[in-house]
Amino acid sequence: MATLKPYRRQRARGGVPFHEARMDLRYSEADERFRSELRAWLEDAVPRFEDSHDVPSADDLAGRREYDTAWQGTLFEAGFAGIDWPAEYGGRGASPTEQLVFHEEMARVGAPYVGMNFVGLLHAGPTLMSEASTEQKERHLPRILRGEEVWCQGFSEPGAGSDLASLRCAAARDGDEYVVNGSKIWTSYGEVADYGELLVRTDPEAPKHKGISWLILDMRTPGIEIRPLRAIQGSIEFNEVFFDDVRVPVRNRVGAENDGWRIAMVTFSFERGTAFVSEMIAVSRATKELAALARKVTRNSATAWDDVALRREIGRLAAELDALWALVKRNVSEAARSNQPPGLGGSVLKLAFTELNQRLSELTMQVLGRAGIARSDIGGLPLDDLTEKALRSLSLTIAAGTSQIQRNIVAERMLGLPREQRTES
Ligand SMILES: Cc1cc2nc3c(=O)[nH]c(=O)nc-3n(C[C@H](O)[C@H](O)[C@H](O)COP(=O)(O)OP(=O)(O)OC[C@H]3O[C@@H](n4cnc5c(N)ncnc54)[C@H](O)[C@@H]3O)c2cc1C
Repeated sequence: MATLKPYRRQRARGGVPFHEARMDLRYSEADERFRSELRAWLEDAVPRFEDSHDVPSADDLAGRREYDTAWQGTLFEAGFAGIDWPAEYGGRGASPTEQLVFHEEMARVGAPYVGMNFVGLLHAGPTLMSEASTEQKERHLPRILRGEEVWCQGFSEPGAGSDLASLRCAAARDGDEYVVNGSKIWTSYGEVADYGELLVRTDPEAPKHKGISWLILDMRTPGIEIRPLRAIQGSIEFNEVFFDDVRVPVRNRVGAENDGWRIAMVTFSFERGTAFVSEMIAVSRATKELAALARKVTRNSATAWDDVALRREIGRLAAELDALWALVKRNVSEAARSNQPPGLGGSVLKLAFTELNQRLSELTMQVLGRAGIARSDIGGLPLDDLTEKALRSLSLTIAAGTSQIQRNIVAERMLGLPREQRTES
């Protein structure tokens, strides 16, 4: 039987072992000063923005892009975009904890969600900051912050989801360009994005993790065909993307040729670690909404809230979310101290949060009872919104790596348990 070697991977990477990371759960005076400044601005800015911008329907992708980027531009103008991004790229140059305060305050007032800026702001931008050349950073980061560039992610393929390293989309070198052929799938917002983070195979002979490169793809390049896929909620934000002799300049490669797997792991560390933070705060708001809903929904002569077991379950979810928020602060303070991208703790966070979110959605549907299957508002209850959130909670345990894959990462790379059998090629 294999012996257990706890934390060996993290030690080997030079990172802080998960159980030894130090953290401070309290906000500093500077954090609280920032909170007051932001709060005062939001009080006026959010209603003003909402008065002058109609919320587009789920299917109106162009309208959604306009809405999301207009809000991002508003944040930028006011000095509240990219709180912890360096000032030289248009950010505020503040601490990562101020970024957390930003998320808390945005959720508190129900400010517009990051929306289509998700990839650019929350994982492509941070990956560029960590790995790209100065020229690439100067070209893209300020435009992402101003809401002028929307990004998408071209990682998954029909035969490469969980086993992403099996990807086959090929980029053959031709002088100063790569010629890309193949396809991607589940590319969220690919149809309206300006740029994509694209993983391609640049060395078909190398072992599968060692022949991959990370490219910046201009989505308007000739030879790209985008075919929308309709999801269960009815929206068409997913796409298949086909590449037919698509020419990408070699200067668009981030990092060294064939070092793309390492860079993709940096992208995931942001996508699973920090990118879920804004969602998490939105969910803690949803827990409060569920409590309010339970007080409204009647069951025989009482309300759902009169059910002690239900109240206990809502309380448990709220407490778990509080604990997860402490974990977020721990991950953020660990990353800030080591000046490194977030570590494997992101997998713990993503796993625990997305599964909790599903339990919350199931409970919400239980409270609603039969009305939960309706797709329109009934008696002033935002059923459409609640149903959409419930369906979306199913997809979040799949996006950015499924729960099973996160469990494998936690087991093998954090706890040092024996590795599952894999076929290496
Ligand atoms: C909302 C959403 C948005 C997305 N957006 C994008 C995007 O913008 N760009 C992009 O590139 N991709 C995107 N994806 C795709 C996503 O990354 C993949 O769906 C995910 O990685 C799983 O891959 P798969 O769908 O091919 O499932 P598969 O890999 O085929 O997995 C099928 C099932 O087998 C399980 N499984 C597979 N391997 C193992 C294993 N080794 N051990 C245990 N269980 C295993 C999985 O957990 C899963 O339950 C998105 C997905 C969703 C749901």
